[in-house]
Amino acid sequence: MLLVHPEISRTRYNFVGVIENECLELEYIIPALKEAGCETKIWDGQVEKKSVKSLIKSFEPDFLYVCGRTRQENFMLEYCRAAKSINERIVTMVGGIHASLCPDRLFLEGVDYVFTSYNVFNIVSVMEIELLKEQGIARLETEKKLEKVEGLYYRLGDKSKHNKAVPFDIKKLPRPDREYFYDRPDNYRYLELRHAAWVRTAFSCPFRCKFCERNRMNQGVYSKRDIEDVVDEIESIKSDNIYIVDDDFLYDSERLKQFVALLRKRRIKKKYICYGRADFIANNEQIMAELKSVGLYYVLVGLEAVSDDYLMAYDKRSGVKINEKSVRICNELGINIMGMFILDLHFKKKDFRNIYKWAKVNKLRHVALSIFTPEMNLPTYKEYSDRIITNNPSHFDYLHLVAEPFNMSVRRYYFNYYVLLIKLFLRAKRDGIYDFIDYGDYIRSFLANMVRKRKNDDK
Ligand code: SF4
Repeated sequence: MLLVHPEISRTRYNFVGVIENECLELEYIIPALKEAGCETKIWDGQVEKKSVKSLIKSFEPDFLYVCGRTRQENFMLEYCRAAKSINERIVTMVGGIHASLCPDRLFLEGVDYVFTSYNVFNIVSVMEIELLKEQGIARLETEKKLEKVEGLYYRLGDKSKHNKAVPFDIKKLPRPDREYFYDRPDNYRYLELRHAAWVRTAFSCPFRCKFCERNRMNQGVYSKRDIEDVVDEIESIKSDNIYIVDDDFLYDSERLKQFVALLRKRRIKKKYICYGRADFIANNEQIMAELKSVGLYYVLVGLEAVSDDYLMAYDKRSGVKINEKSVRICNELGINIMGMFILDLHFKKKDFRNIYKWAKVNKLRHVALSIFTPEMNLPTYKEYSDRIITNNPSHFDYLHLVAEPFNMSVRRYYFNYYVLLIKLFLRAKRDGIYDFIDYGDYIRSFLANMVRKRKNDDK
């Protein structure tokens, strides 16, 4: 089986060489496939030089599995169709967060199966059913088996079927097979942290922020691993940098205390990146100090806004004062806090400026911006349906406007966006952060974008 992690983007903003994501989702599938006697290969569009098509031709897989996010939808469909054009007998499967939340967008020509559950063993089940079909096992029998695979979109003759997904208990996941990751020591960095291994300790998020689809993962059910098992895994990883990719790792203070105690007891010395909420940081200074002492290096925090009105509208259950306190605590402890902000569709010119001012006043050195994006599976998509200006899933990357702003033209909005980006980049340059990137190259491209008419500037 060929397991594919698509390219992020074919534009210059794919962040290759700046942030690269280990293919953890695929690495979880490999042990289950190997156990079933299946030969596997990974192709990762972030790092591979040869095309997926050439690998399909040389490897000649019987099965192709592709995962990805909304922005990668076009690539996911393209690869499946390419496989079919090379050999129509290749069985194509699609999974991952976008497939689980928008299966109808992927269950199209060229795609045989869509998985909407995180149960990796379902992929093995479908592979085995397909092999039974090859052996001429009665159709009725294979159909009955397909009916039992939860979270599956499939076809019977010309009929489309789908089985409901059930939440998956993350404790049942096997240990990921990291061979592909270890073979590429020069890849998978997170900013200055090289070769950062991804570790997942939980699915989904217990919060319900209005703009966010991450809490809908795993049918919206938060499922966490035992922390001792997590530490066992971290200890076994041959990398000094660990990127904990849970949507909210800083959630359960007792679990975090145990995490710290276990790392200390076993003398595990690594650097960590994780996501957390500002309110947790503001209310748990002592735990943050403990986490820093065992290696917490980056904490990625959805600060989202510099006004309480926006935070209320997003149902963030936090406030600007809390945001300020979280930045202060991280700065005092020497933890790098990456403040993530949403550029709302209601923004006026001053709102862009206020983000810069807020970051400067609060000494927030690392800032990440996302343009407000009504995700296709969220109520916000319906809410903004009359403002949507693009159907191209590649534009749902938080770098594009996908809906018309309220208080200025699309063009003016992008102009303000790039002015803010350039100001933040120049400030970062002065502060000497991100010194490994080519600032000039990015800034030149932002400047060009300010004056260039973009494909979705048509409104
Ligand atoms: S924004 Fe963060 S805290 Fe809110 S629901 Fe999403 S992952 Fe959870």
